Amino acid sequence: MVGDFELRAPVVIVTSGGIGGNHDLVRQNWPARLGPAPRYMVTGVPAHVDGRMLAITQQAGGRIVNPDRMWHYTEGLRNYDPIWPGHGIRILPGPSSMWFDATGKRFGAPDFPGYDTLHTLKSITASGYDYSWFVTTKKIIGKEFALSGSEQNPDLTNKNIWLLLSRIWQTPEPIQRFVDKGADFVSATTLPDLVTGMNRLTGDNLVDLTDLQRQIEARDREIENPYSKDAQVMGIRNALAYPGDTLSRTAAIHRILDPDAGPLIAVRLNILTRKSLGGLQTDLSGRVLDATGQAVPGLYAAGEVAGFGGGGAHGYRSLEGTFLGGCLFTGRQTGRAAAAATA
Ligand SMILES: Cc1cc2nc3c(=O)[nH]c(=O)nc-3n(C[C@H](O)[C@H](O)[C@H](O)COP(=O)(O)OP(=O)(O)OC[C@H]3O[C@@H](n4cnc5c(N)ncnc54)[C@H](O)[C@@H]3O)c2cc1C
Repeated sequence: MVGDFELRAPVVIVTSGGIGGNHDLVRQNWPARLGPAPRYMVTGVPAHVDGRMLAITQQAGGRIVNPDRMWHYTEGLRNYDPIWPGHGIRILPGPSSMWFDATGKRFGAPDFPGYDTLHTLKSITASGYDYSWFVTTKKIIGKEFALSGSEQNPDLTNKNIWLLLSRIWQTPEPIQRFVDKGADFVSATTLPDLVTGMNRLTGDNLVDLTDLQRQIEARDREIENPYSKDAQVMGIRNALAYPGDTLSRTAAIHRILDPDAGPLIAVRLNILTRKSLGGLQTDLSGRVLDATGQAVPGLYAAGEVAGFGGGGAHGYRSLEGTFLGGCLFTGRQTGRAAAAATA
């Protein structure tokens, strides 16, 4: 396209999504309560999620509220086959991998895989580094790793029930491809080799073999103790008490250093940008409000650009997987209101 064009409409509905594709904007709005903004992040949303329409709508009179509310994941992998620049894929982990900061210090409760995303994010930034490690086994990865994104879930995307069921007895192909090709994976049959690989991968040389071994052996001892007070071991046992998790989400409890469960695998986890919980302030009809709380004539917003409704319907946190509901609901409300306004 060459040159400019202008379109006029009685109502305009902004539905341009969040800001996760624009790391500068993410850092600019990063809340102090989550510690220092990471220097390095992978991008968990397409490039069009750049927040550009927020500033444009602001110029048209709209008000942005709660820009510091955001939700980013702590288990981001660099995609070996990226679809957009800096493309990161999130692991949705089961409960058994051991989680360490960049220096090889094990996180405490509630920073266990799949527990409390924003708390773990804070713990990672507090470590002074912007990445962390899973130390795990092939057996755990095969049963407990799932990846976020439609292209990583051909069984669900293609509604292939047999492929979906095969997750119960085999490592899904997309996961195996990451283990084989992913830049963040280190596999080894012995712990010394694993630590050498971890230090080589980051170049930081922060992980000490003796210290890591001590922590893993301490955790492994707890497997033999039916009354263990290791909070993660208790959590694994709790998950295994539920047949659904035993079937598809939680590996049988075992020692990390058990050679039969190996090889050992370390996964470097990057911070992955994802959701914007603040945005354009709207009323219940999706009308964008100005700084005085008055509706800007003809201007509406819905979905993530409106903080999933109102400018922050989720508060500071949210429940996993509930974001699309806000998109659909505010889309419906706003569409109906805009149609009524122009009828
Ligand atoms: C990999 C992944 C997994 C997710 N999993 C879940 C999940 O399991 N559960 C859940 O609830 N949520 C999930 N989410 C979040 C959810 O998908 C998003 O919050 C939701 O899609 C936002 O919808 P939206 O319509 O507001 O914006 P988007 O879906 O981002 O759509 C914005 C649209 O606006 C267009 N656009 C942007 N800027 C402009 C512009 N300047 N001019 C013209 N067009 C523009 C874009 O091209 C795009 O089509 C996931 C997100 C990702 C990326």
